[in-house]
Amino acid sequence: MSFRSGRHFLQIPGPTNVPDRVLRAIDRATMDHRGPDFGRFTLGVLERLKKVFKTESAVIAYPSSGTGAWEAALVNTLSPGDKVLMFETGHFAALWQGLASRLGLDVVMVPSDWRHGVAADEVESRLKEDKRHAIKAVCIVHNETSTGVISDVAAVRRAIDLARHPALLMVDTISSLASVDYRHDEWGVDVTVGCSQKGLMLPPGLGFNAVSDKALAASKKAELPRAYWEWQAMLANNANGFFPYTPATNLLYGLDEALDMLLEEGLDNVFARHNRLAEATRRAVRAWGLEILCLNPKEYSPVLTAVLVPDGHDADKLRAAILDRFDMSLGTGLGKVKGKVFRIGHLGDFNDLMLAGTLAGVEMGLEVAGVPHRRGGVQAALDYLSAGDQTKTARPARASA
Ligand SMILES: *Cc1c(COP(=O)(O)O)cnc(C)c1O
Repeated sequence: MSFRSGRHFLQIPGPTNVPDRVLRAIDRATMDHRGPDFGRFTLGVLERLKKVFKTESAVIAYPSSGTGAWEAALVNTLSPGDKVLMFETGHFAALWQGLASRLGLDVVMVPSDWRHGVAADEVESRLKEDKRHAIKAVCIVHNETSTGVISDVAAVRRAIDLARHPALLMVDTISSLASVDYRHDEWGVDVTVGCSQKGLMLPPGLGFNAVSDKALAASKKAELPRAYWEWQAMLANNANGFFPYTPATNLLYGLDEALDMLLEEGLDNVFARHNRLAEATRRAVRAWGLEILCLNPKEYSPVLTAVLVPDGHDADKLRAAILDRFDMSLGTGLGKVKGKVFRIGHLGDFNDLMLAGTLAGVEMGLEVAGVPHRRGGVQAALDYLSAGDQTKTARPARASA
C-alpha cells in the first residue's frame, strides 16, 4: 500500500481506536505472572473491572477473543442436550447459536428480521409454554453489532420472572460493555460475556465472564466437557491475583489504564457521550436521505449505526472507495445484510471532532462512489453537536494528566 500520512480512521464497531494512554501502558516489560507484584496488580484490576459490569460477583478474564468467552459461558453451566432459548437478532446472535449447537446444545432460535431487538413478551410466552422447565438458559445479545440494534435486558429479566422460570440468563455484552449502561447484578444476569476490543478500548485478546451465584451453582452440576474454560480453577487462582495458565499480561496492563480512563471520565459521562455521538450520526444519515437499519428508535444502538445503501448499490464498494480515498475503515455488512449495509462505529475513545471527520469521510465517499444521497449530513451533525445544551454532556476536563 502507498504511504498514508496522518492517522487511519478505524471506525469499525470493534476493534476500536486504542487510546495513546493504553498503548503506553501496554508498552512495558512483561512481568513474572507468578511473582508477588503481579498478584497485587491483578487483584486491583479485577476488583475495578467489577464496576464496569456493575457486579459484586467475580469477573473472569481469559486470554481469548469474545468467542472464547461465549463458549466459556455455555460449557461451564450446561450439559449435553440441554435446551437453550436464543433470539436471532443478527449475525452475532446467529454465530453464538452455531457455537452452542456445535457444543451439543439443543438451541431453540426465535427468528427475527434483523431490524429489531429481543421481544421480551416472546421470552415470557416461550418460557410459560415450557411447563417442565426443559429450557436451561436464555441467551441474548445486548448490542447486536451487525445491525445496530440494542435489546432491553431488564425487560427480558422481568419476562423470565413473570414466567416464574428458573432458566439462567446469559447476555453477550461484548459491544455494549463500557459504552452503554449495563447492570449485571441489578438485572439478575447469570453470565455476562464481554471482551476487550470494543468499549474497553483495548486491543483484542481478553474475554470476560461475570458469573452470578446461580451460575456458579449450575457449574457444579454442568456436564459439558471443559478444561481451558473451567471457572473453578480460574476463580481459585484469581482469589490471590493469579491464573491457572499464562494470562495476557500486557493486555492486563492496558486494562488497568483503560479502567482508570473510564472511571476518571465517569461511567455515566461515558454513556452520555456515546448517546450524543450516536444521535449526531443518525441526524447525518437522515440528512443524506439514507435509511437506518434499526426500525425502532427505542432500540437505536449508542455504539454503532448500520446504514442501508439504496437498492442497486453495493455497500462494500462504498466502503472500499472510502478506504482507498480517505484511509477510513467502516464496518462491513455481515451475514444476510452483506453488501446492503455499512456500519459506522462511534464507540470507545471517540469525540466530536473524530465523529465529524468520520462523517465527512462517509459524505465524501458517497459522492466518490456515486451513491445517491443529499448533501448536508455532516452539517446536520455539526449543528447538533454545537447546539448549546449539548455541551453539558461533553467529556469533562481531566483532573490530572
Ligand atoms: C465482536 C463481537 C463478538 C465476537 O467477538 P470476537 O472477539 O470476534 O470473538 C461477539 N458478539 C458481539 C456482539 C460482538 O460485537
